[in-house]
Amino acid sequence: LFITFEGIDGSGKSTQARLLADHLTAQGHDVVLTREPGGSPGAEEIRALVLQGDPDRWSAQTEILLFTAARRDHLERTIRPALEAGKVVICDRFADSTRMYQGLSRGDLRQMVDDLHSLMIGVEPDLTILIDMDPVNGLERALSRQTVEERFEDFGVELQAKMRAGFLSLAEEFSDRFRVLDGGRAIDAVAHDVAETVAAHLG
Ligand code: C5P
Repeated sequence: LFITFEGIDGSGKSTQARLLADHLTAQGHDVVLTREPGGSPGAEEIRALVLQGDPDRWSAQTEILLFTAARRDHLERTIRPALEAGKVVICDRFADSTRMYQGLSRGDLRQMVDDLHSLMIGVEPDLTILIDMDPVNGLERALSRQTVEERFEDFGVELQAKMRAGFLSLAEEFSDRFRVLDGGRAIDAVAHDVAETVAAHLG
């Protein structure tokens, strides 16, 4: 079972991914919790290349290639082996983040993202949980914990709002696998809904 979490910065998706991993582990599932960009040694190196340093170092197109390369490595080294071993893979961000950030933020490059995805990745999650969040609250949360990497610090509320709307329309586009939860509530309340959503999916 391949579960991904998506959402804007500060939506709380990383916290929810971790809580779900703990919950499923306690239930006796063999769980691999991973993240993107990154999730394998090579992909973590690419993460450092794209998220740190001069934001203009890469063109938008090169950035898509780098994110796709990172995802390919992550898939080969971490995700696919775990799924083949029957484990539950929980991933904090996956291809939907690239459809949004690289596909929308620097012009309309969604087609390029999708073409590379079908050529090099070709895998979609069984279930994607979108933690929906008000952009202003999300940004406040993200900035206050200071884990937003240098490269993306100037994203601002406007882009957050664009990404939020984009994620919501992506949830409609892929309505078979997306479930949208309101992230503007207490952590426990969101975690409860996440657990229920996954339980329903496990059937
Ligand atoms: O999810 P996380 O907070 O680790 O993401 C780190 C940063 O990378 C975020 O600011 C996010 O907006 C950005 N990012 C991106 N494109 C992706 C994935 C993440 O711009 N495909």
